[in-house]
Amino acid sequence: MSNGLKKGDPCPACGAAIDAITTRRRGNRYYVYAVHKVGKSRYECYLGPAEGYVHADLFNPIGLKGAIDNDRFNEYLARLLYYVDNISFDKGLEILDRVLELLMEKADKEERERLMETLKAWIERLKS
Ligand SMILES: [Zn+2]
Repeated sequence: MSNGLKKGDPCPACGAAIDAITTRRRGNRYYVYAVHKVGKSRYECYLGPAEGYVHADLFNPIGLKGAIDNDRFNEYLARLLYYVDNISFDKGLEILDRVLELLMEKADKEERERLMETLKAWIERLKS
């Protein structure tokens, strides 16, 4: 039912530690969710149908919808940043590197300038 995932395991959808696994019924089907508690609030990640557990489904709710829906994308980014708190420095740098790479690919000339200004400001902060 819970696909072998348990409290404390990293969530396959967002990477944050799982606080609980919950199953919801819709009609006559059951769906599995990972529950995350962040301070006083909580969010859930859809993990797939309880009876099927199709691996590809794991990344659809966040990955595909996230890419075309701004709110979901922002939510995903917030989850990612939450996740960064719980990972190693090296992994954090790896993620930062990838984010910068994606920004660079998407940026036009003016946006590249803004990216450079942001990075320069960070370099100044790091020097101080
Ligand atoms: Zn999650």
